[in-house]
Amino acid sequence: MTRKILVTSALPYANGSIHLGHLVEYIQTDIWVRFQKMQGHDCYYVCADDTHGTPIMLRAQAEGITPEALVERVWHEHKADFDGFHVDFDNYYSTNSPETRHYANDIYLKLKAAGLIEVRPVEQFYDPVKEMFLPDRFIKGECPKCHAKDQYGDSCEACGATYAPTELIDPFSAVTGATPVRKQSDHYFFRLSDQHCRDFLKQWTTPPHVQAEAANKLGEWLESGLSDWDISRDAPYFGFEIPDAPGKYFYVWLDAPIGYMGSFRNLCDKLSAISGQTSEVIFGEFWDKNSTAELYHFIGKDILYFHALFWPAELEHAGYRTPTGVFAHGFLTVNGQKMSKSRGTFITAASYRKHLNPEQLRYYFAAKLNSSIEDIDLSLEDFTARVNSDLIGKYVNIASRAAGFITKRFGGKLGTIAGNTLLRKLQDAAPGLAAQFEAREYAKALRDIMGLADLANQCVDETKPWELAKQEGMEAKLHEACTVSLNLFRLLTLYLKPVLPKLAADVEAFLNIAPLQWRDAQSLLPGGHAINPYQHLMTRIDPKQVEAMIEENKATLAPLPSPASGGGAGGEGNHPARHTEKQAHAASPSPQPSPTGGSPHPNPLPKGEGANVGAVAPLVSIDDFMKIDLRIARIVNAEHVEGADKLLKLTLDIGSETRTVFAGIKSAYEPSTLVGRLTVMVANLAPRKMKFGLSEGMVLAAGGDGGLYILSPDEGARPGMRVK
Ligand SMILES: [Zn+2]
Repeated sequence: MTRKILVTSALPYANGSIHLGHLVEYIQTDIWVRFQKMQGHDCYYVCADDTHGTPIMLRAQAEGITPEALVERVWHEHKADFDGFHVDFDNYYSTNSPETRHYANDIYLKLKAAGLIEVRPVEQFYDPVKEMFLPDRFIKGECPKCHAKDQYGDSCEACGATYAPTELIDPFSAVTGATPVRKQSDHYFFRLSDQHCRDFLKQWTTPPHVQAEAANKLGEWLESGLSDWDISRDAPYFGFEIPDAPGKYFYVWLDAPIGYMGSFRNLCDKLSAISGQTSEVIFGEFWDKNSTAELYHFIGKDILYFHALFWPAELEHAGYRTPTGVFAHGFLTVNGQKMSKSRGTFITAASYRKHLNPEQLRYYFAAKLNSSIEDIDLSLEDFTARVNSDLIGKYVNIASRAAGFITKRFGGKLGTIAGNTLLRKLQDAAPGLAAQFEAREYAKALRDIMGLADLANQCVDETKPWELAKQEGMEAKLHEACTVSLNLFRLLTLYLKPVLPKLAADVEAFLNIAPLQWRDAQSLLPGGHAINPYQHLMTRIDPKQVEAMIEENKATLAPLPSPASGGGAGGEGNHPARHTEKQAHAASPSPQPSPTGGSPHPNPLPKGEGANVGAVAPLVSIDDFMKIDLRIARIVNAEHVEGADKLLKLTLDIGSETRTVFAGIKSAYEPSTLVGRLTVMVANLAPRKMKFGLSEGMVLAAGGDGGLYILSPDEGARPGMRVK
């Protein structure tokens, strides 16, 4: 029976680059979708960039472009990365679309009609200079628990404490540096705590809708009680205005996931042109309450709460169908540790593609992935060894050994096979392997496929075609042996095709066959079938390629995601979606913000004229100059370094991230006088290991025999602004 299946991956936030942590999910999903398509099912895979929100708005302002132009540019970057890794969406769209707006409005109005939307006043921090409410990640200050300076408004990176932004000591706006004030505004809430939602979720949050381990977690959350969800934000905001609430905008919860529907509706327009059915009818087949199609969301475990509680409740009470399954996966570690910029293991998709073959990463991820929520590790040494041993040593090798004889001795035509138990064994493996792919047990499937490849190699080693080729009268035996080898190779290729689509296409061209479908496992290549000359299929990984990639990712510490991208594509977060943001405003915490913000000290005036200067350095081109990424930085901490004669340890906020820099300015400055002031730093200087720690950049200072003066920008400059 042909199944109708709609599959999604979480939407990457349009505020940073795709990295290997994100790719776990897209590769996992893509393998599953390709497998379903090989089964002959009507399977569609849709996704989109998540484009709305304050971080996008502010980043566009900082770059001097419109948010639309920013999200357009990032869309192309993301699409190029997905194409490069053969992640084959049927539609890759944007949430900033008329379709998404349509369904957001529709769902909102239906929830409102069902009595599940409530308006409540919320008190929040407000930036009086920028005249906007500040998201938690845009408020910084001193941690109320451990007193670490320069911590975000929702959690402390030093001690791990979480708190409300109103609990920060000496809070300041990360946007302007101004001291935020508390201001009240009406917010719109989805009443997830409503009895209807609880009753529905109690029965819904069970297998097979969710994995067993997820069901346990969700059960705990349900037990402890659900709170209502804030779905609105105030202007200025880049997003969709709420239909009956001027100046209020849909926040992520009622916007991003609806992008799944928006992207699919956009695909329906295209399908309609082919099928003759209207776009609306096709959409309804997948999303109507009584739809018999299957709907699956692949997500990271960090957004489980949202996708398995809020989203199904929202769909249910707006009159749409609910997901058939929500499949959560774990995080990626590299060499057993969290991905890290300083170790060079925060690897972007683009830099991987420059150095290594994307299908080799697909293979390695698949070899690690199963249906659980466990984290997976990319051990770079194991990656190299495994790809070289499995794909080159065991798999590709089979074809390269047999193809030459067929081409040179038999005019490129295959022989006949008298009956072969090993071929039968490989054919019979198809249903078992299909069950493993269906259950997302890729690691098991690949282990079994490589077991079959071992048997194929044993068979070649036993028949020894290279010896048959030298013996008189063994032509027929040689022909059959090579024909068996190529049939074994074809079956292995078929089973690996969901994981290695590009390689499989190359093999299909080499074997001169139509694209392999799963049912083709039941047939063999007929005698007399002509193949094309063997072309090199895959190159071994040289450990030097891996080293070069790590080095490159160490050197480019410069990409500058905005401060709110902690859970977004540009941040240190492992997951692409921004839905991880903590649910704010459930309570109204009380401490008063202190009047002392992080406002910059006034610029010191120059002390003298006509310093004793050396000759000007040779000319450089504007392009050379532009390679140096100079940024406005706020010195959020300065301290003496024990045992260092000349150095001060500076902590610099460059808007998107915090850097540690050891600066040779001890002779000129008392650390306490530096704290709070703005200066200029080289943000893309390769980090340098010093005796006292890693220095991640350089602060600009004028100097000579007349003293030492660090630079300050004119008033109004903000951390993270580029200097040019
Ligand atoms: Zn702390």
